[in-house]
Amino acid sequence: MADVIPAPEPPRLQVRGGGTFPVRRIHCVGRNFADHAREMGAQAPASREARGRPVFFSKPADALVLDGRVPYPPATKELHHEVELVAAIGRDPGPGVLDPADAQGLVFGYAIGLDLTRRDLQAQAKAGGLPWDIAKGFDHSAPVSELVRAAEAGDLESRTLSLEVNGSLRQSSELGRMIWNVAEILHELSQLYRLRAGDLVFMGTPAGVAALEPGDRCTARLDDLLRLDCAILPPLT
Ligand code: MN
Repeated sequence: MADVIPAPEPPRLQVRGGGTFPVRRIHCVGRNFADHAREMGAQAPASREARGRPVFFSKPADALVLDGRVPYPPATKELHHEVELVAAIGRDPGPGVLDPADAQGLVFGYAIGLDLTRRDLQAQAKAGGLPWDIAKGFDHSAPVSELVRAAEAGDLESRTLSLEVNGSLRQSSELGRMIWNVAEILHELSQLYRLRAGDLVFMGTPAGVAALEPGDRCTARLDDLLRLDCAILPPLT
């Protein structure tokens, strides 16, 4: 039987050194840096033992922006940047809960991205006890850089994730400050979803989130390993 509409192609990230990475799903972690949890008015855990469970949400794969061009989204007056490490899953682990010791082996590589957020809609959702979808999963809400293979990225803990907007530093943190590291997040996610090759996981943002306006230019970096340049464009009409 033939498709009755054109089949959508998966978005594909460029892989440094050659090849492309087709994307299946985008998982996201909320509140993975204590300083950001506090700036959002949430309580940061007092210790690793007291950290509880991570907050998860998702974006559709077609929210990815691969050319750095982000039209200002509709229905918001408060578009916020959240710079994040992005892990790319390269292998299907099968069903069941992942052991944290095995989780690292699933990671094909890393990118950096912006978890763009309609903060005003998120605040309304939180106040009303409603889902975050319209605040997080909108069109063009996930600009992402190229991918580097895990071996090339090496140890992440001492690397610094940062974001400049129009040349001013807005966010900066060592990845070692994440409340749950990559392996721990994959372990937690696997209790809720079966991870698959092609999944991306946005790992959460440090403090310093703030508003973007049309005309702004953003540069995200993971040291000198990864760079993502974005331009916020006028709204589509
Ligand atoms: Mn985020």
